[in-house]
Amino acid sequence: MKRALFPLLFIATLACSTATTYDPHRMDAISERYVKLVLALGEHDTDYVDAYYGPPEWREAVKANKQSLDEIRAGAVSTIAELRAIPVPSDEMLALRRRYLLRQTEALLARVDMLRGIKLTFDQESKALYDAVAPHHEESYFLDLTQQLGRELPGDGTLIDRLEAYRKGFVIPTDKLDAVFKAAIDGCRARTLQHIQLPAGETFTVEYVTKKSWSGYNWFKGNYTSLIQVNTDLPIFIDRAIDLACHEGYPGHHVYNTLLEKNLVRDRGWKELTVYPLFSPQSLIAEGSANYGIDVAFPAEERVAFEKANLFPIAGIDASEADRYYRIQDLVGKLSYAGNEAARRYLDGEINAQQAGEWLTKYALMSPPRAAQRVKFIDQYRSYVINYNLGKDLVKAYVERHDREKRWQVFEQLLSTPRLPADLK
Ligand SMILES: [Zn+2]
Repeated sequence: MKRALFPLLFIATLACSTATTYDPHRMDAISERYVKLVLALGEHDTDYVDAYYGPPEWREAVKANKQSLDEIRAGAVSTIAELRAIPVPSDEMLALRRRYLLRQTEALLARVDMLRGIKLTFDQESKALYDAVAPHHEESYFLDLTQQLGRELPGDGTLIDRLEAYRKGFVIPTDKLDAVFKAAIDGCRARTLQHIQLPAGETFTVEYVTKKSWSGYNWFKGNYTSLIQVNTDLPIFIDRAIDLACHEGYPGHHVYNTLLEKNLVRDRGWKELTVYPLFSPQSLIAEGSANYGIDVAFPAEERVAFEKANLFPIAGIDASEADRYYRIQDLVGKLSYAGNEAARRYLDGEINAQQAGEWLTKYALMSPPRAAQRVKFIDQYRSYVINYNLGKDLVKAYVERHDREKRWQVFEQLLSTPRLPADLK
């Protein structure tokens, strides 16, 4: 029955699309269909729906009438055709809305096809899902960086052994973790609030968890609230406190989701933002802005000064080594693209899981247990890995095209609008 209706609906929508005026009711109807398609795909793919705080009856309807992948695919194809036929509105926000729905639905279609067994290369997949392809680097690129690191690190032996030995002194003791993390959150929040006004009542809770492939996760719940989970499977180094507090909290995921809820869902009634499909272009903006947000809140020199004064003492770590520690961290950070190479070669079948782990240890300088955790992440989230480093670089380039004094403003605008990777170029 459902299928037989498609040709009729399709003709009807094409007929409407010749209208040159923008019809908000029609966009709201498409928005509802998009949300239900995302929820329907979430019934097949447990990692797909990262957040949903829209009408509960939409989810109930989806659960009560479970759609097959073929049915979801047909729904996505017709939604894409309808959106393409709508003329681009002259109002910038309305144009962004149309394109957001279009591009997100196209990515949904790609994910459906992946679940139906269509094989994509790593780069084809990241292009289809995140609208971006990470640069390729040869091994020599990473070897040059590791040699610089070798000059900074004390001791003898292999580079990874020297790095691990050096970093041992910077592990946050388990019993201090919550206090250090709370102080980091306070610092990130205070700096964010100097520049961005957040709605009253925004808040999050923090939980410590184990046996996950990720190190931290923000679960947005709506009503300006998040649950932030921190994985304690592996030792947590002092630099992770600010990284996680900014990335998951302020001005990262919690602020992004809160501003989308305030500005788009509540003020404009755009319900498509009440659902967040993880494998979609929105994730490049989410992860890129969360990672770049660390630098926005804490420019390098301010960060080290803040940590020396506020975090090292709580953790009981000697702050006299902090400057060198962060010089080393910067060099390790530049190796992050080695993680993309490992994922690309592994998912493209050029190397196996064990070799991917070895690559991560050799070129990204991850300890073997951390490399094993990352391979699990790659198994679960695949080309999603590019959203962190490429996403950060794209968001950084976009924001830093503006004068320094305007950067918070540009950053806030990015977090308050349905912009996607194409808008960063
Ligand atoms: Zn994240």
